[in-house]
Amino acid sequence: MDGSNTPTTAPVLILLGPPGAGKGTQARMLEDKFGLVQLSTGDLLRAAVAEGTDAGKQAKAAMDAGGLVSDEIVIAILRDRLAAPDCASGVILDGFPRTTVQAQALDTLLAESGGRINAAISLDVEDAAMVTRIAGRYTCAECGEGWHDSFKQPKISGTCDTCGGTDFKRRADDKAETVASRLSVYHAETAPLIDYYARQNALSRVDAMGAIETIAEDLSAIVKTATA
Ligand code: AMP
Repeated sequence: MDGSNTPTTAPVLILLGPPGAGKGTQARMLEDKFGLVQLSTGDLLRAAVAEGTDAGKQAKAAMDAGGLVSDEIVIAILRDRLAAPDCASGVILDGFPRTTVQAQALDTLLAESGGRINAAISLDVEDAAMVTRIAGRYTCAECGEGWHDSFKQPKISGTCDTCGGTDFKRRADDKAETVASRLSVYHAETAPLIDYYARQNALSRVDAMGAIETIAEDLSAIVKTATA
């Protein structure tokens, strides 16, 4: 963040959790409810790959294999996005940071503008359930709303409730072999951030195995307190 657009008081929230924990779904709900902007480094990287930018070309192999894109690329992408004017109302980071180096870079970026992390919220789930969750998920190609074969079906099958779109897509890296790598990378590289934020007294934890609405209520209560 270069600090020019984002006021020092703008809330910064982090959602931590393995792939399939529901970070994207919950971030979108919080975005609507609290007027925050969801920043997903996964979405930013997928856009870079689709546009064929240099960063996208470098990121693609790691993403296809379920590994992590280099800290350098991801931090640069996030820094640029955070400097955009719409982030001035505050942000929910979904999928960043994923390594200790990224967490330290974020602390430095925020410190430069007098900002801080309001809360890092860990969505606690069991690994065994994640493969099923990921295998069934898809999004509306028009508005990006997330859906699931078992847990969140549109009211009218084949039509997005949110925008009426009828075109849906599934992520290429949501196949079983890649999910296994993504989960092991999460445990090796990202799970240590739970302790990192606990040491900063910024950590909250939510049981994310239940219904989407219940988890959303728990998260809202934390965000309300953290941004008050
Ligand atoms: P996601 O949509 O968050 O599941 O991210 C999809 C893929 O993008 C991941 O499996 C990584 O390859 C890459 N990615 C997303 N965010 C990061 C990050 N913060 N650091 C490194 N790689 C990332």
